[in-house]
Amino acid sequence: MDIISELKAIVGEGHVLTDDKDTAGYLVDWTNRFHGRVLAVVRPATTDEVSRVMKLAYETQTPVVPQSGNTSLVGGGTPDASGRAILLSLSRMNKIEAVDAVNDTMTVEAGVVLEKAQEAARESGRFFPLSFAAQGTACLGGCLATNAGGTAVLRYGNTRDLVLGIEAVLSDGTVVDMLRGLRKDNTGYDLKHLFMASEGTLGVITRAVVKIFPAPQASYTALVGVEDVTKACELLAAVKSAAGPALTGFELMQAKCIERVGKEIPAVTLPGDVSSAPWWCLVELSYSRDPGSNPLEGILEQAFEAGTVADAFLANSVKDSKAFWAIRESIPSADAHVGGNLHNDVSLEISDIPAFVEEALAALEARFAWVDPSVFGHLGDGNLHFNIGSIPPNLAFENEEGIRETVYAVVSAHNGSISAEHGIGQLKRAHFLALKNPVELELMGRIKKALDPKGILNPGKLLADRA
Ligand SMILES: Cc1cc2nc3c(=O)[nH]c(=O)nc-3n(C[C@H](O)[C@H](O)[C@H](O)COP(=O)(O)OP(=O)(O)OC[C@H]3O[C@@H](n4cnc5c(N)ncnc54)[C@H](O)[C@@H]3O)c2cc1C
Repeated sequence: MDIISELKAIVGEGHVLTDDKDTAGYLVDWTNRFHGRVLAVVRPATTDEVSRVMKLAYETQTPVVPQSGNTSLVGGGTPDASGRAILLSLSRMNKIEAVDAVNDTMTVEAGVVLEKAQEAARESGRFFPLSFAAQGTACLGGCLATNAGGTAVLRYGNTRDLVLGIEAVLSDGTVVDMLRGLRKDNTGYDLKHLFMASEGTLGVITRAVVKIFPAPQASYTALVGVEDVTKACELLAAVKSAAGPALTGFELMQAKCIERVGKEIPAVTLPGDVSSAPWWCLVELSYSRDPGSNPLEGILEQAFEAGTVADAFLANSVKDSKAFWAIRESIPSADAHVGGNLHNDVSLEISDIPAFVEEALAALEARFAWVDPSVFGHLGDGNLHFNIGSIPPNLAFENEEGIRETVYAVVSAHNGSISAEHGIGQLKRAHFLALKNPVELELMGRIKKALDPKGILNPGKLLADRA
């Protein structure tokens, strides 16, 4: 069977790409670490076309790699080097089908770019809270398939918490229609959740119903300096007690990360000298009705009196607030300017984070005297980007295995996770297989076998391939 001709018959000649110049952009990941080859890049426009492509792949035992925005930081959407796979790009399935401001839901195709979904909600006087630095490129299908996190998880949850229904296509082409906007549905197993964080290994997500919310009318932001991570956790607890659900962001950054942004990213302005404290928290409160005066003033005053806080900058305008967030979001770029670092994306119970940071830094420094860690992340979610650079820069990458082993050993000792929001992909697969509870791995393998009996969906990612 001539697979290429069959694919062209399904999606149209112009949407089966085989020339290197057309496929190149799909075959390398965002970090430029993973490169692959394919039989073809196929760009279906409808669920029916996805289903027919999958049926063909199933019959011919052809591997299929689903890809949406290709912003994975773990090589999740990059094919292997065999050149046997079809790369299934969802980019043409980019329609926002409905925004229902009464049910507070939005129905989208998998290839809708996250920023477009946010805009569509805004135009209807609503708010779609999923937000992170790659939102201009990442798509809803990819966000669901990785259970993406981002900056609003503290208040609204991960992508999993924002999804009410999905439509997915299984490896044999079967369309599973679970596209419902119900907030309550206890009719058996909630199968849609199998596809969240499945990284394209169980099925192709084609459409989703996601939750939208009344847009916040006022938000208040501050950059707050603290002596150590324990104080940062105390501040988090104090703000939670005082502000309750109004707390929408609580990020942690080392002062040196902020200083590096100030030096390396000219477009970002710092609010002042941050050398007065070694750690800084970015705190954001949001309200559906403007409380009139800034609630952070009183909360921080009390925290100063209690000795929790060492210094603070309050945003006096939306512009200031955006500038504070720009600092946080520019840390990875600033790190990349000075030679880059090994990305870690770990999660722990929040109460374990001070001990984790202390122990992991000590273990790294004991083994590698030259480490230059860049520690920041979503403290409110118990998620740190515990990134490791080096002086000189190349040493961190040359010692990647040893560094990951050291960090993950401390994560495991605290019963944490080696992937909070970026997924496993290719990058963390060996560690995932070594560290995950064997009983959970066995159950995952059984689910994979039931949904993808021929093992054609995204082989080489997440789970071990079957012999
Ligand atoms: C600068 C930057 C910042 C980032 N910040 C964050 C952050 O704060 N939080 C966070 O969670 N992530 C973050 N990421 C990681 C990344 O953006 C997310 O993982 C995102 O959800 C991936 O979406 P995508 O559309 O690019 O998916 P892709 O990269 O195309 O795919 C990701 C995975 O999902 C699978 N997949 C894609 N589409 C489908 C589909 N329709 N059906 C089934 N499987 C599919 C792929 O096979 C792959 O395994 C960041 C990335 C960058 C580059």
